[in-house]
Amino acid sequence: MTKEPLRYDVAIIGAGVNGAGIARDAALRGLSVIVFDKNDMCSGTSAISSRLIHGGLRYLEYAEIPLVYESLHERRCLRRIAKHLVKPLRINIPIFSGARRGPLLIRLGMIAYDILSFNKLLPRHDMLNREEIRSQEPGLRDVGLLGAARYFDAQVTFAERLVLENLLAARSAGAEIKTYSEVREIRTCDSVVDTIRFSDRDGQEHEVGASSIVNASGPWVDEVLKRAPRTPRRFVGGTKGSHIIVSPFAGAPKDAFYVEAAEDGRPFFIIPWNDQYLIGTTDIRYDESLDTIRASRAEVDYLVAETNRVFPNADLGIGDINFAYAGVRPLPYREKGPESAITRRHIIKVNRKIAKGLISIIGGKLTTYRNLGEQTVNRLAKLLHRKLPECRTRDTLLPGAWGIDRARDLLVASGLVPEQATARLLSIYGGRASAVLELAKADPALGVTMDPEGRYLAAEVVFVIREEFAVTLADIVFRRMMVGYDADQGRSIYDAIASLASSEFGWSSEAASDELRALIDFADSLRVTA
Ligand SMILES: Cc1cc2nc3c(=O)[nH]c(=O)nc-3n(C[C@H](O)[C@H](O)[C@H](O)COP(=O)(O)OP(=O)(O)OC[C@H]3O[C@@H](n4cnc5c(N)ncnc54)[C@H](O)[C@@H]3O)c2cc1C
Repeated sequence: MTKEPLRYDVAIIGAGVNGAGIARDAALRGLSVIVFDKNDMCSGTSAISSRLIHGGLRYLEYAEIPLVYESLHERRCLRRIAKHLVKPLRINIPIFSGARRGPLLIRLGMIAYDILSFNKLLPRHDMLNREEIRSQEPGLRDVGLLGAARYFDAQVTFAERLVLENLLAARSAGAEIKTYSEVREIRTCDSVVDTIRFSDRDGQEHEVGASSIVNASGPWVDEVLKRAPRTPRRFVGGTKGSHIIVSPFAGAPKDAFYVEAAEDGRPFFIIPWNDQYLIGTTDIRYDESLDTIRASRAEVDYLVAETNRVFPNADLGIGDINFAYAGVRPLPYREKGPESAITRRHIIKVNRKIAKGLISIIGGKLTTYRNLGEQTVNRLAKLLHRKLPECRTRDTLLPGAWGIDRARDLLVASGLVPEQATARLLSIYGGRASAVLELAKADPALGVTMDPEGRYLAAEVVFVIREEFAVTLADIVFRRMMVGYDADQGRSIYDAIASLASSEFGWSSEAASDELRALIDFADSLRVTA
């Protein structure tokens, strides 16, 4: 007798921020959930963003008022449920004579932004005159400077951890998370979704049954739909965005800057991030491979030149770039028109012409993922003819947002790590840092730090393998411990991490060296060469 595959209320394809947010919402409302990602979680667009939790000041220019309102509301919510990950960020908009956006337009934009966020917890905007901004940011270009607007938004330094914590919450509520599991086929029965066929890391094929499917594969949405019985029209028409990351430079700003590029009038960000500066982004229509996207030399040159123009002492060159990353915005497909004018609103597309019970997510920002999750699960309830409990994600803290003060006290009392390392552990794991500490205390081999500054605890490697479903060294370094985004990409502790992971997984020496090679190759792929 052939065994029936396991059956879930909902199968989610894609463990980026949107898939993770939908999974958490669905699992908390009692649906049985399985999530697939063909790579690690947060290995697509969600890992290559500007990392802002923002109202989208720019969307005001395109009259996307509901999106700005929704984003500001969600920003407030994320500051509460993910307070260890989402922090306020002060941003300056310098005003130069002759720029496309003059003082009046910027002032009006600021007022509208304040009005739309009337119940926000962050301070309102300020207008600074030339002398005021010069005295506070002396590195800023002097020529043509008229003044600046200053406002607050928020930043999620490690979006990877935000995605992870949504998945951890989903898992605690019963969801199954399958990374390195590529969905190969969506099968239907009488035009209703029925089965998902997927392959695992070893190339083995498996099947699960699903009463509904959410295609949350970001820019891969159309590729995934090709794996369903009927190939539809095109839904996603992505634009490529790249960032460069540099160490503090001469004249570097204290606050973030949102600046109009001289070359094309597009605004871009220069953001203090992870003890470095995150500079971006570009916005270019993109139709090439989604799996190997790199910042092009032209994009890098553009970002370097524009930064040097605004901060003339910076004198940045290619050699100053620590690394760069690029990805594709999963925007709704539009054949013509400027990239910047394509709506940034998300669309929850019920694909009933392809298969009943199938939904595709088009667009969606880091900032609004929670609301998108809520709306998607409301739709699923209708598709499944189920009366579900009210959404709980708005008020339920993410796992790391519990017990932060207690974790801080325990870390300090342990004396295992210096003060700076305590702050880092809390900013990565939140209150769950106390569980890292328990591991460190239980095994002397794990209670040591791996670097001379004492920032990285050996226990973290074991913790992220046991508790956070890290499978490869790149998962550990770039999407769990986050050391991969240090200026040196954390290379000095790769061997130590590999050795700990090797004993935890029981790798052979050949497997361990293959893993280490793959990690170094990934780190190298983010480097910019002249
Ligand atoms: C340059 C840039 C800057 C941005 N900056 C910001 C910002 O500052 N703030 C903000 O709020 N938003 C920002 N965004 C938008 C935001 O990052 C994205 O819209 C969002 O991360 C999309 O998330 P997602 O989960 O839909 O897609 P992704 O994160 O791309 O996740 C999709 C997942 O699906 C998986 N997948 C694909 N095919 C399959 C398959 N067959 N089987 C299984 N899994 C599969 C992929 O591996 C991937 O992990 C930015 C976007 C870009 C490109």
